[in-house]
Amino acid sequence: MTKFIFVTGGVLSSLGKGITSASIATILKQSGFKVSMLKIDPYLNVDPGTMSPLEHGEVFVTADGAETDLDLGHYERFIDATLSGKNNFTTGQVYQSVIKREREGGYLGKTIQVIPHVVDEIKRRIFAAGDGHEFLIVELGGTVGDIEGLPFMEAIREIRHELPKTNTMNIHVTLVPYISAAGELKTKPTQHSVQELRRIGITPHMLVCRAEQPLPKDLKKKLAMSCDVDNDAVIEASDAASIYQVPLNFIKEGILNPISNHLNIKIKPNMEKWDTLVKHIVLPQDEVTIAFVGKYLDLKESYKSLTEALVHAGAHLNTKININWCDSERIEDVGAYDVIGNSDAVLVAGGFGHRGVEGKLKAIQYARENNITYLGICLGMQLAVVEYARNVLGLEDANSVEFDDKTENPLIYLIDEFMDQSGNKQLRTHESPMGGTMRLGEYPFNPKDGTNLKKAYGPNETYYERHRHRYEANPFYKTDLENAGMIVSGESNGLIEAVEIKDHPWFVGVQFHPEFTSHLETPNPIILEFVKQAITKN
Ligand code: GLN
Repeated sequence: MTKFIFVTGGVLSSLGKGITSASIATILKQSGFKVSMLKIDPYLNVDPGTMSPLEHGEVFVTADGAETDLDLGHYERFIDATLSGKNNFTTGQVYQSVIKREREGGYLGKTIQVIPHVVDEIKRRIFAAGDGHEFLIVELGGTVGDIEGLPFMEAIREIRHELPKTNTMNIHVTLVPYISAAGELKTKPTQHSVQELRRIGITPHMLVCRAEQPLPKDLKKKLAMSCDVDNDAVIEASDAASIYQVPLNFIKEGILNPISNHLNIKIKPNMEKWDTLVKHIVLPQDEVTIAFVGKYLDLKESYKSLTEALVHAGAHLNTKININWCDSERIEDVGAYDVIGNSDAVLVAGGFGHRGVEGKLKAIQYARENNITYLGICLGMQLAVVEYARNVLGLEDANSVEFDDKTENPLIYLIDEFMDQSGNKQLRTHESPMGGTMRLGEYPFNPKDGTNLKKAYGPNETYYERHRHRYEANPFYKTDLENAGMIVSGESNGLIEAVEIKDHPWFVGVQFHPEFTSHLETPNPIILEFVKQAITKN
């Protein structure tokens, strides 16, 4: 029978509930348990796929092609697991299912209400996510007191009521602010948010308190008393030098006792390998600087998986990765050299829309002509192909139809028919709706012998990586590109998945997003190889 740990948040958002949840899951996983995770998002969007990265941060794509909350990325990176669409759901999805069922007559003439129908659908989804696992860590987005969170709180309360006491645990993440004028840490916001939680019928079993100052013993005792949790169940969470340090800090803080007591289990995590990797992140031997060219630089969260993937590679190479953030629009104004400077390598990330594209092209040309280690991801590969066609093949108007749908030389084009993961034919045209019409999720590819791609991935014929894009490199130009020195190094059923330049020390573009499969313990092969190359060149 699955045991459920529900993580709620109080006082304010951005307290690191996702990292807290992932850290607890990591401790259980490293103790040998079968653990999975679920993120519930109370907003009405069906998924974050159509939200701007500036609004919501990165959209994380699962292997089965679901566009999910970025917290799922943290979960996979921490517990070294492959999750799926059922590990994240939103209010939008819940209502969509309930209304669909109502239209189909599935409720046999009943009046459909939040309790029980909506809450039942929420419970069904929580149980489905826990299926086959010993533990499911459920993180509820938002803050206690939010109107849209109420049905989910009710579902949590009901599950807690239905299951044996040792099968559910509530952890509440709050803030204990330090008021410098008074020179004091304040417990009142935490007390109030726990009161709000109890008003809904949930008394937490443990508090995780974010604080900028260490919490004195008597303050923890006061919190335990006023919030009605055990004395050893007030866990301090101070800012950590690396998010991967958090599970280690929690263990030091004594989190094992309250969890094992409440859930009636023995927890003995083996954190040896984890500890070494964290040491390499916090106190690395070497360092390297990577020019990260993108356009959403105001919100670095929109490149979360990629920056984390660089951290993973750095941890395995005992090297600190300094990121030189390069705004592609600035490159348009002042040129590549002034922005990229002497960085050891250039990385052009994925992206959508016309803004900043010419700057990215300049960055690519700069890396190509100056033999600088280059990795282009998704749009970063597409533009590498466009740049090569323009400046080496001499096709001046080469472009992606995303930016010029009338170009005579559509190096990157829209294929209107392709086979999806399940072997079904997919159709997409310029008129297709924006939501859910991209090539999404995991697809196989075959690296070509003798290429850098093959060297990075290994001896197998087929590997899998995840996709999120609408356009594809046009195979019509393959022969011309190859004759001119740009090799197609990876393919998937006729689709071009990777390119590289023959006469360049290391220049690779990949159509997929390798960052989505990088975990702390198992870094992504092509990103690891890219960082290795950057190190040897510096
Ligand atoms: N805009 C490009 C496409 O849709 C690239 C997308 C991406 O980089 N994720 O194909």
